[in-house]
Amino acid sequence: MKLSYNRTKIVATMGPASAKKDVLLAMVRAGVNVCRLNFSHGKPEDHQKVIDMIREINEKYKLNVGILADLQGPKIRIGLVKDGGIHLVNGKHIKITTNECIGDDDQIYITYEAFPQDVRAGETILLDDGKLQLKVIETNRKDTVICEVLHGGILTSRKGVNLPNTKVSIPSLTEEDLVNLDFVLKNNVEWIGLSFVRNAEDIIELKRIINRNNNAARVIAKVEKPEAIDNIDAIIAATDGVMVARGDLGVEMPLEEVPLLQKMIVSKCREASKPVIVATQMLESMITTPRPTRAEVNDVANSVLDGADAVMLSGETSVGEFPLIVIETMAKIVRNVEERGYPFYNHKVSNIDPSSQNYLSDAVCESAVYLAEHTNAEAIVSMTTSGYTAFEISSHRPKANTYIFTANQQLLNALSLLWGVKAFYYDGLESTDQTIADVNNILKTENLVETGDVVINTAAVPIAAKGKTNMLKVTVVE
Ligand code: PEP
Repeated sequence: MKLSYNRTKIVATMGPASAKKDVLLAMVRAGVNVCRLNFSHGKPEDHQKVIDMIREINEKYKLNVGILADLQGPKIRIGLVKDGGIHLVNGKHIKITTNECIGDDDQIYITYEAFPQDVRAGETILLDDGKLQLKVIETNRKDTVICEVLHGGILTSRKGVNLPNTKVSIPSLTEEDLVNLDFVLKNNVEWIGLSFVRNAEDIIELKRIINRNNNAARVIAKVEKPEAIDNIDAIIAATDGVMVARGDLGVEMPLEEVPLLQKMIVSKCREASKPVIVATQMLESMITTPRPTRAEVNDVANSVLDGADAVMLSGETSVGEFPLIVIETMAKIVRNVEERGYPFYNHKVSNIDPSSQNYLSDAVCESAVYLAEHTNAEAIVSMTTSGYTAFEISSHRPKANTYIFTANQQLLNALSLLWGVKAFYYDGLESTDQTIADVNNILKTENLVETGDVVINTAAVPIAAKGKTNMLKVTVVE
């Protein structure tokens, strides 16, 4: 029987619930394609153990699970507060200070040194994912800001702070991020996520450091600030991939705007052939219950229909009670939409630009997708060293399966994030005919194609020169 697999990929955040070999292996077998390491939590030695575990599973079971290292970026927090929690009362004033102290009814500490200089009267301060809201009354522009409580409640230690209207001057990569970046570069992770991206320069700066280290890691821009929405085109142009980080986005932007922002970002990423992840609270209730809510099932299904490359789980797999059931549930929702939702294999508008350096490759990739459709091909099969062809073909969301062959190990795992792409290691590259025969045979051995299937092969010819994709061939599997 021919095998099939989900096109929309699953990213699972690792944590105490999932960072065990047997649990992780079961999750991978159930559908996890990429593991996310959240550097807002955990020590380097914990992350190292998870990285080693993923690499070991990949090697032992011939899998290509990718790693996404998610850097915290300029996340702002309050400090410790007394008695485990303080009550902020509506209408009362409270001071926010940059002098470290234990918070009480009078003042709370903020980790953002330049806050009194950056903030303006009238701006909004959101605490604990927006559950509590303050308004700035005045700042002494030195160390203290006086605020009025608009929506009060209990505030506990180290909660996150969002400043949707403030021009935050903290650099996009904090000192802690730079230490973590050094660690993830040493571990050759495939994807590096940057939180609270504000403009393309944030991405360019991160890429500069990656390049300086001769590392091939690709960058995911986490879109979660109003400024990132304002600069979305430039950010997409600069980055390798995007995450619609709905957690903070839904705090920093009016919540009701998030669904359309998600659609807008997914659509722009597809146009630009950049993979896009939809993240946060997808199956949130499954942190504590084995069945999702109807609304959550709809959310996952609609993200698949939007055309996201991947859907992501956070607390559900890092600290939840049912990490494996969550993956099984998500994989079932994805598969059901994909099997029945044929109209979503819609082509993107042709974006072949004669002035682009990649004009010919783009034309070959787009033609491969059309040819596959006209020949009812089972698969589009491509050889790549840079990965460019995989990103291009995937962005068209072809109905045919996309099989990519490469001798580039880090790329093999990186491609796990891309919609519809299944990658294989192959380093033959002797002659075009031999390579096509080899890769089609490998697919046959793997039960992914069978005799009589039409396959569209693309490659850069001559094959050993590792140039740009310029060849398209229709093959019938023998
Ligand atoms: C988010 O805000 O949706 C997100 C994915 O980021 P984090 O989990 O780092 O808060």
